[in-house]
Amino acid sequence: MAKEYDFIIVGSGFAGAVIAEQVSSKLNKKVLIVEKRNHIAGNAYDCQDEHGVLIHKYGPHIFHTRSEEVWNYVSQFTDWNIYHHRVLAKIDGIEVPIPFNLNSIYAVFPPEFAGRLAQKLIERFGFGSRVPILKLRESNEPDIAFLAQYVYDRVFLNYTVKQWGVKPEELSPSVTGRVPVVINRDDRYFQDRFQGIPKQGYTKLFERMLDQSNISIMLNTDYRDVINVDLASGDVEVFDRPFNGKLVYTGPVDYFFDYKFGALEYRSLSFKFEHYDTFQYQTTGTVNYPNDYGFTRITEFKHLTLQTISSTTIVKEYPTAYKPGINIPYYPVKNDINAAIYRRYFEESKKYNRIIFVGRLAEYQYYDMDAVVSKALRVFRERLA
Ligand code: FAD
Ligand code: UDP
Repeated sequence: MAKEYDFIIVGSGFAGAVIAEQVSSKLNKKVLIVEKRNHIAGNAYDCQDEHGVLIHKYGPHIFHTRSEEVWNYVSQFTDWNIYHHRVLAKIDGIEVPIPFNLNSIYAVFPPEFAGRLAQKLIERFGFGSRVPILKLRESNEPDIAFLAQYVYDRVFLNYTVKQWGVKPEELSPSVTGRVPVVINRDDRYFQDRFQGIPKQGYTKLFERMLDQSNISIMLNTDYRDVINVDLASGDVEVFDRPFNGKLVYTGPVDYFFDYKFGALEYRSLSFKFEHYDTFQYQTTGTVNYPNDYGFTRITEFKHLTLQTISSTTIVKEYPTAYKPGINIPYYPVKNDINAAIYRRYFEESKKYNRIIFVGRLAEYQYYDMDAVVSKALRVFRERLA
């Protein structure tokens, strides 16, 4: 059976699916995808719940990108709901727009003080700039320093401690930098040119990508059940027979190498779905709860999917430690210690020229979906085509 395939791909998320699609459609080669879950689409998977509401099983996923190449590529497999995600954070009993922006300043401070703050931010950083909270906190100007401390305390500190188990400054600044303070009145969570939700859902998008006679998919299978990699020689066996094609791996890189340089740290989530017999539960797609409760945020799917149905389903996200074999490694924990461990795995991975590591887990990068698509297209062009 191994001889039938030119490529074996571990994982059917965006990383694995894009490469499978490209190998099949551009090279006309045979691909086997080995996927441990009972479905394709990785963490982007969506499905109808028992009430007929379309939900994202692994948390809310909004597609957004600046890249026309990525947008055009993905658009071959789906139409879009043009949806611009809006997030409110509940702080001190009121709901304020996140990213924290000039509208948020006017929502929480008296107009005269808000106007002065806005003026100072524009003078200091320029209208339209995006300032990470840790950068804003470096300011010595008294009003800006006050604002920075206010936003840090109310929006970032407790949310980050819940989400990651550590304070913002103990993580790479790029983590809280994903949601900067924005010096304009744009309330949208993402400012990318292209944004949307696949009209018939993500799973349908993946089905269309992978519906090719060259592509076979094996679900419910950990790759180690069918693939044996000799880490010393780099030899690969599939179904107990030598495999001379290319292996694309999109699972956790430390697992692949038997944790030889130590376990990388991940954060997991536990999702609590709740159904309500009401048309709408909250006024925006997501409401963040930085300071209250054990969950970080509540998302109501109907805002994203535009589904017209009389009842509604929400999800609450409870961050937890990652425990191998028990829950799912959703987030790489970006700090200096993990960066040093990952660097060793990365160097090791370069020894295997027939094995390619790509995706959020295999590259230990806090990638959004568009970054994974972009990287997979590049890997295909540069290393597989
Ligand atoms: P994955 O989607 O994780 O796919 C990897 C696949 O490999 C999985 O299906 C897994 O089961 C399989 N696998 C792993 N190990 C093995 C094994 N041993 N054997 C066989 N198969 C294996 N991005 C956005 O752009 N917008 C968003 O709004 C957004 N929201 C998110 C919300 C949450 C809660 C999370 C956790 C992530 C979010 N993301 C979002 C990020 C997005 O999920 C990832 O960028 C994307 O799914 C990564 O694709 P991937 O193929 O690298 O990994
Ligand atoms: N963050 C925060 N408060 C918020 C929103 C975000 O502290 O209201 C911080 C937090 O550390 C979070 C990070 O910014 O993990 C990135 O947020 P994002 O919404 O991008 O996270 P994701 O959607 O990937 O879970």
